[in-house]
Amino acid sequence: MNNIAVIGSGTMGNGIAHVFAQYGYKVSLIDISEDALKKALATIEKNLSRQVEKGAFTAEVKQQALSHINTFTSIKDGISQADLIVEAATENVDLKLRIFKDIDEGAKPSAILASNTSSISITKIASATKRPEKVIGMHFMNPVPVMKLVEVIRGYATSHDTTKAVMELSKKLEKIPVEVNDYPGFIANRILMPMINEAIYSLYEGVAGVYEIDTVMKLGMAHPMGPLQLADFIGLDVCLSILRVLHDGFGNPKYAPCPLLVNMVQAGHKGVKSGSGFYEYKQGSKELVVAERFRY
Ligand code: NAD
Repeated sequence: MNNIAVIGSGTMGNGIAHVFAQYGYKVSLIDISEDALKKALATIEKNLSRQVEKGAFTAEVKQQALSHINTFTSIKDGISQADLIVEAATENVDLKLRIFKDIDEGAKPSAILASNTSSISITKIASATKRPEKVIGMHFMNPVPVMKLVEVIRGYATSHDTTKAVMELSKKLEKIPVEVNDYPGFIANRILMPMINEAIYSLYEGVAGVYEIDTVMKLGMAHPMGPLQLADFIGLDVCLSILRVLHDGFGNPKYAPCPLLVNMVQAGHKGVKSGSGFYEYKQGSKELVVAERFRY
């Protein structure tokens, strides 16, 4: 496998393109938005430069990596030569089904089609194609150049050969791939989201404040970030939609999203991306300030 196409050049897509290019793969980075592609290239340049400054590799490796990336606004043009296509477009079922139908029609018959989805069923995505045995989940973590894990998700029909190829490829990127089966939330979000939801319930029921809940989990469990801060970082809207996938998928009330989370999302308080969630985020400030509403 030499040619990789990445669909979507947002937060995850640019990180995935960065890592493949860094390890010598030829990358076609595709987005419907020219602006997103421009921003992605600027982000990749900045992040590669930071790695050079830290001594991870030389400036020559950085230049080679950048020269490996070509950008496209048409899926058809971007995927024609790809051995592996990693879809990292917006988290929306209908959009992903449409993209997989298109890439199945336009990709080489031998190409593997992977999705970086956080919560949509790989089996469902595969059903939009005529090659479900070659469809797989390749769930990178954010920020992709830093985080070691790749959750490799086998859909109901994913073949052993496809799984083996993606596991081996992930190792070539110096990642640690872990194989899981396709059930709601896979492993990462099935365990993480109920913990975040429970932290929000603890706040909602007045058991403790934002700072106290996060401090217990940071100092008591050695988590690098408390669950409420992590929820702000992931995006409260994203957390809510993943909890709904778990709730619908298992039909178990233990996954019901906390009403406080629902209210915050409805009010537009989505965490870092909206400037406020459990904490307040001011541009240029690194200080962690509990949102006014939760101060007492
Ligand atoms: P994002 O909003 O930052 O980027 C999505 C990009 O997809 C945008 O640039 C958008 O223009 C592009 N796009 C939309 N429709 C497209 C189309 N038809 N063709 C090509 N490009 C299209 O989103 P993100 O946070 O990078 O998430 C991407 C995927 O990765 C989602 O499935 C998400 O669940 C998953 N994911 C996200 C994270 C995270 O922490 N952000 C972590 C793991 C997995």
